[in-house]
Amino acid sequence: MNNKRDYYEVLGVSNNASDDEIKKAFRTLAKKYHPDVSKEKDAEAKFKEVNEAYEVLSDPNKRKMYDQFGHAGAQQQGFGQGFNASGFEDIFSGGFSSFGGFGDIFENFFGGGSSHRKQQKQDTRPMKGQDIGAHVTISLKEMMFGTTVNLNLTLDKTCEVCNGAGAKNPKTDIHTCTTCDGYGYVNVEQRSLFGIIQTQQTCPDCKGTGKVITNKCPKCRGKGRYQAKEKIDLEIPKSIMPGQQLRVWEKGNYGYNGGPRGDIYLDISVKPNKYFKRVNEYDLFLDLPVNYLDALLGGEIIVPTFDGEVRLKLPSNTKTNSIFNIPNYGFFKSPSSNKRGDLIVNVIVSVPTKLSAEERQKLNELKEISTYKMDMDFMKDL
Ligand SMILES: [Zn+2]
Ligand SMILES: [Zn+2]
Repeated sequence: MNNKRDYYEVLGVSNNASDDEIKKAFRTLAKKYHPDVSKEKDAEAKFKEVNEAYEVLSDPNKRKMYDQFGHAGAQQQGFGQGFNASGFEDIFSGGFSSFGGFGDIFENFFGGGSSHRKQQKQDTRPMKGQDIGAHVTISLKEMMFGTTVNLNLTLDKTCEVCNGAGAKNPKTDIHTCTTCDGYGYVNVEQRSLFGIIQTQQTCPDCKGTGKVITNKCPKCRGKGRYQAKEKIDLEIPKSIMPGQQLRVWEKGNYGYNGGPRGDIYLDISVKPNKYFKRVNEYDLFLDLPVNYLDALLGGEIIVPTFDGEVRLKLPSNTKTNSIFNIPNYGFFKSPSSNKRGDLIVNVIVSVPTKLSAEERQKLNELKEISTYKMDMDFMKDL
């Protein structure tokens, strides 16, 4: 009956994976299988599986329970009497949509079997707000030296008018739901392969809160929370790596009951630059256009860098794609290091698009006296 996959296997992590590794694996897989974006045939099922695994492995208690007893232990835990383990699958296949989501289900499963406790937990326990994902694009120069970015985020906040209670007057406007007697769930009989089983479903009248609000707070319309835009300045440290994700602690959605804010996972991408690019991890590479006369005659040329102008001595007869290294004008080796990579200058010999009459005349004279014979070796292979 039990053909559920191992939760660690589902997330593709080892049994002793750290919380961060688990979170990272979850985020990657959730993105991959999100039914709104994924094109995979069984994305929804995979998404649920990934969510379920994360719900358990991200909670130290649930994870311990699972490590000790496996799926069977996880199933018994919280169900208590009056529910056999075979009903477990049934909830997931049939009853899923009637729940608020896996979070709710697991609150029920692991909450210790008593929804009184669950309610109490929801009402008073400080809980961290939800994490949020954000994305910024910075320039290559900002990537080198770090920068401050201004994010305009839509955040989930506790309503300051009702203090999260959802009612105009918390003392007189909040009543225990009569449909579920304040439990937040109702017992429902379901026909299944295994006969009639009793399952608990979220109360349709109070949506699982156990309370009914008669006079709702006008600001949050009874929800106790609302979405609001907020401007947040974030420091991006110098020498961040391409594709690196920054975790910004406690700047995400606001917490519950005074709990801390969630985190921001900030994805950083870099604007393409026509001339400069980052190579060899810490080097800056520049395709530098050089006047054909300077390339021929040699001499000092000006090289623009992210630190200002630098002079470079060019030998005479410099060809296109000649490379010159300027040390310590590359990326910092770490956000705390002053050691830097090189600036690698790749010369691109540039010829004028127009010639004056005088230039043309002089060049014709030059051509007549020129001794230059091009290397025609490449013809040999024809
Ligand atoms: Zn309110
Ligand atoms: Zn109710």
